[in-house]
Amino acid sequence: MLDKLIINTRSREEFVEITPQVEEIVNRQQIKEGICLIFVPHTTCGILINENADRDVQRDIISHLKKLVPPGSSFRHREGNADAHIKSVLVNSSLPLLIEKGYLLLGRWQGIFLAEFDGPRRREVWVKLVKSS
Ligand code: ZN
Repeated sequence: MLDKLIINTRSREEFVEITPQVEEIVNRQQIKEGICLIFVPHTTCGILINENADRDVQRDIISHLKKLVPPGSSFRHREGNADAHIKSVLVNSSLPLLIEKGYLLLGRWQGIFLAEFDGPRRREVWVKLVKSS
């Protein structure tokens, strides 16, 4: 079964933590061992894991990605959001995670984030659990 989360982002660039929603899907489907695949069907946002304790880490990642790929007029893409497309490539569109003993395995300081680069928009995050035993 494919679960779809709807995330309404509020800024052009922001990270939205979705760890609780993904954990709820794992709990509801009662899969003990397997893989949780998370996918965003968009070209100007991405999905990533990083620190969820200090929000400055998210701000630093966003501001340094902005320095790496500054918005501007030197792109051929006429929609005006070429920087967002490139940042989406850098963070990627999918993420595999492990499920063990009914729990999503994450490190102590890790959270799962939708990385918005061209908001605010209505985004979907698709979550598929694959049972391995
Ligand atoms: Zn575009």
